[in-house]
Amino acid sequence: MEHNVDGQAIRDRLVETRGMIDDAAKASGRSPEDVTLVAISKLHPAQAVAEAALAGQRHFGENYIQEALAKQDELAHLDLSWHFTGKLQSNKAKFVPGRFDLLHTIDKLKLAQALHKKLSAACAPRQDVLIEVNLALESQKAGVAEQDLPELAEELLRMGSMNLTGLMLLPPFDLDPEERRPLFARLRELRDGLEVRLGMKLPVLSMGMTDDFTQAVREGASLVRVGTRIFGTRPVRT
Ligand SMILES: *Cc1c(COP(=O)(O)O)cnc(C)c1O
Repeated sequence: MEHNVDGQAIRDRLVETRGMIDDAAKASGRSPEDVTLVAISKLHPAQAVAEAALAGQRHFGENYIQEALAKQDELAHLDLSWHFTGKLQSNKAKFVPGRFDLLHTIDKLKLAQALHKKLSAACAPRQDVLIEVNLALESQKAGVAEQDLPELAEELLRMGSMNLTGLMLLPPFDLDPEERRPLFARLRELRDGLEVRLGMKLPVLSMGMTDDFTQAVREGASLVRVGTRIFGTRPVRT
């Protein structure tokens, strides 16, 4: 199906978004370079990604594995960094080795084990991953419960095929952006506690989307995942 891509609009919104991130970082005493913008391109055509790349955007996030692989292949001539930000079923773990610079959504031991198996079989270099945390809110379904986070982190590290670089949060959609701020702060605290427990740095905090990325940056996000604000409304998944 044809979907018109307005490259100039994408580039304008990208520049504006980057500017807002930089302002939020400075306002909270942080350095703008410490915040990576991942443009979430799920359900948008490869051409939209190529247009954003023309404006210097390098990091892109995808949620559906087959769509992601097809887009990567189509854009293989560009030097892009791909993130997987969607829910990953264990039976799809085989598609991950060698394909994504960062997997944001490890949320259970079964998935970590499946991924470990495929990474080992592929003799892949250590896969950078984040653990997705559930802050025990009723309307939030994805992620590992706070109390199970340390154990999952330790088991995952023991496997030896994955590099745990931080935590990810997908807050409930029914909260407004200011109400999400305490959740962002909570994720940062959990990260700080886990660093002490594991005796290692966990530099990545993946939090903040179109509606709330400035709040997330103010609470310490090192990576924001912005889709709609850059690419416009998403086509419906068919
Ligand atoms: C779709 C999605 C985003 C981007 O959402 P927008 O509101 O369009 O910015 C970010 N993170 C995850 C995990 C997503 O699934």
